Amino acid sequence: MARNLVCSDCGGKLQEGIVFDHGHYSVRTRPYWLEGKPEWSFWDGWRVKRTKEYLIAAYRCENCGLMKFYADSENPSKKSK
Ligand SMILES: [Zn+2]
Repeated sequence: MARNLVCSDCGGKLQEGIVFDHGHYSVRTRPYWLEGKPEWSFWDGWRVKRTKEYLIAAYRCENCGLMKFYADSENPSKKSK
């Protein structure tokens, strides 16, 4: 499905990017979206039953800064079996 890359608030252009985090040794990592209802575990933190994972594509409006997220490609390192 085609993505609507026009800001829903101001009509500005949405610029492609990613959200990243720092993992071990400050290596940049990308968060991903998990299918399923999240449950809190005292030992593991938030988790969902093992399922598909999709990398997150993030778009930012060049005019007002609104951010829009899409589930991008399936996480290549965590394909479900
Ligand atoms: Zn905007």
